[in-house]
Amino acid sequence: MSNPNVFQFPEAVRTRSRFRNPIGKFRVNRTGDCIACGKCVEICPYGVHVKRRGQVFVENNYLCLGTGCPEPCYKACPVQALSVRRNPVFDTLGDFRWTNELLAGTWYMAEFGERPLAGLEYKVGNSGGGFDKLRLIFKGTRSCLEDITDDDIDVSLELNRRDDNAHRIRIEIPVYGGGMSYGSVSVTTMVSRARAAAALGTFSCTGEGGYPDELKPYDDHMITQVATGLFGVKEETIQRVKIVEFKYAQGAKPGLGGHLLGDKVTPGVARMREAVVGYPLFSPFPFHSVYSVEDHKKHVDWIKAINPKALVSVKVSTPTDVDMVAVGSYYAGAHIIHLDGSYGGTGAAPDIAKKNIAMPIEYAVPKVHRFLQEEGVRDKMTVIASGGIRTPHDVAKIIALGADGVCIGTADLVALECVRCQNCESGRGCARGIATTDPELSELMNIEWGTQRIINMYLAWLRELIRILKKLGMKSIKELVGRTDCLIHLDYM
Ligand code: SF4
Ligand code: SF4
Repeated sequence: MSNPNVFQFPEAVRTRSRFRNPIGKFRVNRTGDCIACGKCVEICPYGVHVKRRGQVFVENNYLCLGTGCPEPCYKACPVQALSVRRNPVFDTLGDFRWTNELLAGTWYMAEFGERPLAGLEYKVGNSGGGFDKLRLIFKGTRSCLEDITDDDIDVSLELNRRDDNAHRIRIEIPVYGGGMSYGSVSVTTMVSRARAAAALGTFSCTGEGGYPDELKPYDDHMITQVATGLFGVKEETIQRVKIVEFKYAQGAKPGLGGHLLGDKVTPGVARMREAVVGYPLFSPFPFHSVYSVEDHKKHVDWIKAINPKALVSVKVSTPTDVDMVAVGSYYAGAHIIHLDGSYGGTGAAPDIAKKNIAMPIEYAVPKVHRFLQEEGVRDKMTVIASGGIRTPHDVAKIIALGADGVCIGTADLVALECVRCQNCESGRGCARGIATTDPELSELMNIEWGTQRIINMYLAWLRELIRILKKLGMKSIKELVGRTDCLIHLDYM
């Protein structure tokens, strides 16, 4: 029987690709010699082959494990009609951080709500640094916890640690959805993320493009963002939510502000942002009203005057003095310091900025964690990390480096079948109908499908996080915060 004190997560429901031929690592080929004996249908545990009206077809190529298959059909076929080869299209996908394997692994999690089967690397990318060079150390800790159930492992996170009158908010998994504005993504994408957040007991953020009415039913799970362009910022929307986020900068492009191309400024976006259809929009950098901690405090006080119960989050990029910024934010009255490292951003963020301006999040988090500790305020401030969190293993690693939880964006898009083609900034560039405001492209996805795909991915992450904690011998995610001794860097082994 389920424990009534434990949050009941939704069930994973298999949610197939929207496309006729999902991209997988291998392709199975069947020649005309096939005698339709059905042996392959029988032995393939992943349903790659199907038999209909006396004929056998390859229907789910993308699920084939290829060379990793424990019981290969091509060896069992009595007439050698089957062969398996690597899919050349697969090798054109991805980049060093989001490799083709991580993309396919995330699609798998979004379809099944489980980590992928053998043969797909779903834990690390191939960037040659950062998270990809860090490993969790399980040696010697394998557990005394094996007999306890997953329900006994606590992965929840309290967001308000100040002893004040603002809301007490607990999220059930230490992950929430980062800001993606109406304008940068479709309303369907936004609502899918919001609905998934509500079902999972966590939050999603509006981004800086205003608060579409379609999000109203999810007010209790929305963070509204106040950014430098002040697009769509209204007292009414600040009063409606439990968390308000100031976006001072974005880790992927600090110092550059935001730029929404005219193509994406459709009538709906223009109305929401009180702008003109077809004209590009800029969010300046920085807030010209903030040049000191005192100015920052005025911002925080402004939110508290409008909505005294709201938690205030401060999203900053990661310059070398980010630790001072974090402490300043604490004294200004913020509840959450949200550190956005340099690998984040959709395809709209210029690569030159991503690779060269801010500090990677793996360096920023321990610096801030230690500085807040030295200042004696670490337990009063929630530290959230974003900017390059791709997998549940990245979540565990950044928490071990000193964060309390994480915020994700790109992983949600990948769950919706983003292929990382980097065309997000263009009005009709997103062939997957995710980062678009074009009405026709937006119809490529529906909200039910999008919601379940994101729920499934989060559930797979949840299960993996629980597995990691059990292997570390910990009963709560809080025990992992700042435990750098649970990590090893491959260069120093
Ligand atoms: S090789 Fe294995 S996984 Fe691939 S289709 Fe054949 S039986 Fe299925
Ligand atoms: S598939 Fe869409 S969301 Fe993904 S990178 Fe391409 S344009 Fe952006």
